[in-house]
Amino acid sequence: MSICHRSAETLLHELGISEPQHIDVEAIAYYCGAEVRYRPLNGCAARIIGSDDQAIITVDDGGSSWPRQRFSIGHELGHWMRDRGKSAHLCQDKDLTAVWGHRQDPESRANQYAADLLLPPFMFQPRAAGREMTFKTVRTLADEFKTSRTATAIRLVEKGTFPAMLICYGMEGRRWFSRGPDVPQEIWPAKQLNHETTAFEVLFAGKEQRKPMEVDADAWVEHRDAYRYTVFEDSVKISDDAVLTLIWWKDEQQLIDL
Ligand SMILES: [Zn+2]
Repeated sequence: MSICHRSAETLLHELGISEPQHIDVEAIAYYCGAEVRYRPLNGCAARIIGSDDQAIITVDDGGSSWPRQRFSIGHELGHWMRDRGKSAHLCQDKDLTAVWGHRQDPESRANQYAADLLLPPFMFQPRAAGREMTFKTVRTLADEFKTSRTATAIRLVEKGTFPAMLICYGMEGRRWFSRGPDVPQEIWPAKQLNHETTAFEVLFAGKEQRKPMEVDADAWVEHRDAYRYTVFEDSVKISDDAVLTLIWWKDEQQLIDL
């Protein structure tokens, strides 16, 4: 079947999919002319090779989790939607973590497509409404959408009720972050972890994750008036040398004052 380019949301509506558990990404790919195969791949996470209206998506099944494999399929489908007929993409792990939103870059655009397909705003937003911006919420939503913790957390920051940022730190400092739409552009997360944060303890002292905490905002935010305010922090270790942190404001007025 020949299918022209369409948004993930249009595709979901066209297929009558309105519940997360019905997002069968392999079936959706097939509907778009792309067959999915699984096997161990060397040096890449997924690839797509296509000609005319048919394509084959191959996903690495040696070690990556099912949520990540689903995201890979969505990512390749994103390439396919744009480059139908002349597609050949080999995508590495780093491509699959390229930050969404930089829509000029093909890898970011493909990730955005995957996110829109697997965590569609019209399904995600009502389920995230009013929930605290914590990894407990992320876990609940990730279970429902069968998506990875990181992808789900990015979506929560984008579409959740409260202003928030998601930040990844390694031993060397800040690696990347995602700022929610209600957080002003002037607000930046610290480049280096403050030793009073839970994230610091989790990363450097090997402490177990603790429950979300209210902390002084100046430990987190680079702003001259930050010391007068507080934020909520929730941090989890994601590998031996990295921690992922959610920072959020329960009281939006504080952010407006800043
Ligand atoms: Zn790619």
